[in-house]
Amino acid sequence: MKVFSIFCVVFCAASTLQGCAAVSISRVSSAGLKAIQAMTVSDEQIQQYTREFIEKSDKENSLAAADDPYSVRLNKITSSFNNNNGLNIKVYKKDEVNAFATADGSIRVYSGLMDIMTDEEILGVIGHEIGHVMNKDTRDAFKNALLVSALRDGISSTAGKVGKLTSSQLGDLGEAFFQSQYSQKQEYAADDYGYEFLKGCGLNPWTMSMALDKLKQLEQQAGGNGGGAINQLFSTHPNIAARTGRLAERAAGEGFKKPGDGGELYITEAAAKAAEEQSKADSGAPEAKDDAGKAAPAEGNTDWSF
Ligand SMILES: [Zn+2]
Repeated sequence: MKVFSIFCVVFCAASTLQGCAAVSISRVSSAGLKAIQAMTVSDEQIQQYTREFIEKSDKENSLAAADDPYSVRLNKITSSFNNNNGLNIKVYKKDEVNAFATADGSIRVYSGLMDIMTDEEILGVIGHEIGHVMNKDTRDAFKNALLVSALRDGISSTAGKVGKLTSSQLGDLGEAFFQSQYSQKQEYAADDYGYEFLKGCGLNPWTMSMALDKLKQLEQQAGGNGGGAINQLFSTHPNIAARTGRLAERAAGEGFKKPGDGGELYITEAAAKAAEEQSKADSGAPEAKDDAGKAAPAEGNTDWSF
């Protein structure tokens, strides 16, 4: 089972990035290592490599067309905040339960995740991903991936700076990026960002915990207490239950009641009204959820990354 291949990973351990780099570093000479470690990469270069990476990724990952029901749904979900703010949010039509962000503000949500989550939960996931971008986690992960790739591919350094990457080097960079993982601290901070983001959108912040709870259930369905791959996962990654519980505790502590358990989904009149109007406008329109026709992704597609 391919699990958590993308860099924004729910369960990663703090030491994973260093561990990953250390394996590669051991293969190079000390002179080569010093050269790589001295290599400087500006934020502008990171942005440029990131854009090249996301363009390549979009070509290779079934990017949903603008008129695809999934794109239409995502645009509606993000319409309240996604105007001229530099974010580039799109759908990959893949069964995986996944989402990721890159340093240039690109966020990709997989249709498999959209199939199992409500619009509000998807917004929570997007808020979490924006948190990784705002906290510079995406930039740092990409920089680290560049270091790993440089060690593996002999990416050249001119006057201490990384030069232009070939297509194959960019592919390797993407792979290293997908394999890197965020620390528990980074995940908590992104969860907190998503939590506040939902509140800012007028949504009950319990939704953040509920979105994670969906993943927890999925994991249990996949044999979280029995399967080999899942067991291995739990040995190296923070427990998702801790994140879910932490967010639930925070929401309860702030006096919010859980939707479906005495709480409203919307916490401001404006948000409730906007949702009602949207619902009226949508009545009779085809839904992406029905189009996919499944409640959970198939076995083997439990890669999620947020
Ligand atoms: Zn994350």
